[in-house]
Amino acid sequence: MSVARDAYALFVGGEWRQALSGGTFGVTNPANGETVATLPDGGAPDMRAAIEAAARAQRGWGRTTAGERAGILAETARLIRERAAHMSRVMTLEQGKPLPQSEGEVLYAASCLDRFAEEARRIRGETMPADSPDKRIFLLTRPVGVAAAVTPWNFPASSVALKVGAALAAGCAMVVKPSELAPLSALELAGAFEDAGLPKGVLSVVTGMDPADLSSAIMEDRRVRKLSFTGSTEVGKILMRAASDTVKRLSLELGGHAPFIVFEDADVGAAVEDAISSKMRNAGQTCVSANRIYVHREIEERFSRLLVERMEGMKVGDGLGDGVEVGPLIEPAAIEKVERHVEDARLKGATVALGGRRIEGRGNFFAPTVLRRADDSMLVAQEETFGPVAAVMPFDTEEEVVRRANDTAYGLAAYYFTRDVGRAWRLAEELEYGILGANDGMPSTDQTPSGGLKESGFGREGGRHGVEEYLDLKCVSMGGVGA
Ligand code: NAD
Repeated sequence: MSVARDAYALFVGGEWRQALSGGTFGVTNPANGETVATLPDGGAPDMRAAIEAAARAQRGWGRTTAGERAGILAETARLIRERAAHMSRVMTLEQGKPLPQSEGEVLYAASCLDRFAEEARRIRGETMPADSPDKRIFLLTRPVGVAAAVTPWNFPASSVALKVGAALAAGCAMVVKPSELAPLSALELAGAFEDAGLPKGVLSVVTGMDPADLSSAIMEDRRVRKLSFTGSTEVGKILMRAASDTVKRLSLELGGHAPFIVFEDADVGAAVEDAISSKMRNAGQTCVSANRIYVHREIEERFSRLLVERMEGMKVGDGLGDGVEVGPLIEPAAIEKVERHVEDARLKGATVALGGRRIEGRGNFFAPTVLRRADDSMLVAQEETFGPVAAVMPFDTEEEVVRRANDTAYGLAAYYFTRDVGRAWRLAEELEYGILGANDGMPSTDQTPSGGLKESGFGREGGRHGVEEYLDLKCVSMGGVGA
């Protein structure tokens, strides 16, 4: 089944066009292996053309009023809502997530743009007292200049909206390189920005199969002053090294390996429900997915039984199907990684309480899986699984679980469930994570700054802090003013 738009193309300098090489590539539906769209296979020359257009557009866009920028962002948000049914379907076809989750993401992208429309009007400077009576000091904020975004397949619309919305609000033109696995949602967003009246060249989207080639054009160009990347820690490190040549500003939203801690005094039913939303959203393929579920030994049996009861009823299938809660994994290699994690856990002594195997047939489906008695020696405790596997690990004390939760290079999201207010405060301070859900399995909203610590990256996305990532701070000391 192909998607509704007749043909997708590169969006460069306000024009829809083919790749300079004339090449194309296909986007595959992970639910059945069919090609859903054929796209231009852009390369470095196409990206250079996009940067050229952005550099031309930057001067004008950087001088627009906050009201003009807010108006375009808000109108784009309105158009996205109007097109939500179509855009959600496109997202499910290219990425696999169940349709209601795609709808949720499309509407979230719109609400992020509305939020950035408001934040555009709140950008402000500062004054501070000088040491001399003859001087005045003030701080100015200015757009950083042309910015670039490199985005992942797992949130193909919201990851783009969070970057483009913040950049445009700050007065920056932006070039986007979406994931080759799910690039259609970014093009849909570009269409909405175009229809909302965004001046030509302020936004370009260049798709292509070779990310290293496309990114090289971004990294080598001095005019690109800022890169915002969301994706794996491995690729983030490559881009961080490359950014040093032109000393670009960076925001890196990298991998996660979230601990989900349930204390003996928690509301176990609520914790199970939140564990499922955190773990099973997008079939476990999110950076903030609960990856290590630490449950106090006293309640581990009850928690695991409830988890199995709830997860065994979950409907797995094509995300367009009625009532489907768990879609496919993005590609066959993702299934192999999940199989490797489950097998490793089994060999090291975990019990498979539910699932534990791929679902044979068309598409990349893995059965919802619960592992009990997992421990820190297993792959599930050491890397992102990125699949529908809930690994339950018993613990005995608060001190022990905080140590185990922090014993990782990652620091994106962590969750904990307790009714003890003192403990809730202590954990907020002690867990080395940028996003914390205290009795909350879904802590991200459009007004909160999300981002990681340690090797999960730096920089924040969303709301006021997200806009600040695209602003330079200048300090002006003015003499000869008089007392
Ligand atoms: P990925 O790192 O493979 O790809 C991300 C982007 O980088 C894609 O656009 C890809 O084409 C590009 N890329 C790949 N290799 C490249 C290279 N050598 N040079 C330049 N660009 C390159 O990640 P993914 O598989 O698309 O996404 C999943 C990862 O993203 C997970 O690790 C997940 O935790 C992370 N993620 C993090 C956040 C966050 O907010 N921190 C959000 C979503 C996803």
